[in-house]
Amino acid sequence: MNAADDKTIVKEYFNSTGFDRWRRIYGDGEVNKVQLDIRNGHQQTVDKVLGWLKADDNLADLSICDAGCGVGSLSIPLAEAGAKVYASDISEKMVEEGKQRASLTLKNPENLTFAVQDLETLSGSYHTVICLDVLIHYPQEKADAMISHLCSLAQSRIILSFAPKTCALTILKKIGSFFPGPSKATRAYLHREADVVKILEKNGFVVQRQSMTRTRFYFSRLLEANRK
Ligand code: SAM
Repeated sequence: MNAADDKTIVKEYFNSTGFDRWRRIYGDGEVNKVQLDIRNGHQQTVDKVLGWLKADDNLADLSICDAGCGVGSLSIPLAEAGAKVYASDISEKMVEEGKQRASLTLKNPENLTFAVQDLETLSGSYHTVICLDVLIHYPQEKADAMISHLCSLAQSRIILSFAPKTCALTILKKIGSFFPGPSKATRAYLHREADVVKILEKNGFVVQRQSMTRTRFYFSRLLEANRK
């Protein structure tokens, strides 16, 4: 399968069965145990990013690009905390849901702009570029190109998360218990941290903060890298 196929499949998935599944996981309604585990794991990643950015105490001065924003799980609280957020996603259904959630909860909607756009075609310049749990849908070569493009949009900082290619996860993936259930409709790619760091460095960024979220079914390595 080539990278274009991956992208088409991912887009179709997040506009159909994937939308229903992830809208529920990223919501607060009833879900099954696996989905609840993924929901909790993902929330830890979101909370970690919010914690880092709030600790810096300058959110009101920042422009943030949230590439592959999903239903706005990170974009909405970032906008609420004062940042100017440009949220975009390849799936119009996810963006529609994000807009809906923002309209119900956000008291300062002027801080948040949504767009339906794949991150490869994003342009502009933002203080911080964030891309959470998106690279898992793409093989390394494609992920490299995506990271490089995102770096070109970042004036100062990039924050990425990916499923790390560790021995344990590789085995879990082989026996099929990694991202079980309908999400198997898309492939899950693991990435070597060294490969991600190398591509960040090639683009002039150096890792400053890092974190790992690991629950039973959710694994996400989080890196914050700053321009050298
Ligand atoms: N970043 C969000 C979060 O953490 O809540 C959503 C994560 S969800 C697992 C992955 C999202 O990436 C989906 O909403 C999907 O539509 C989006 N996506 C996948 N490929 C993309 C691409 N090439 N450009 C933009 N968005 C993409």
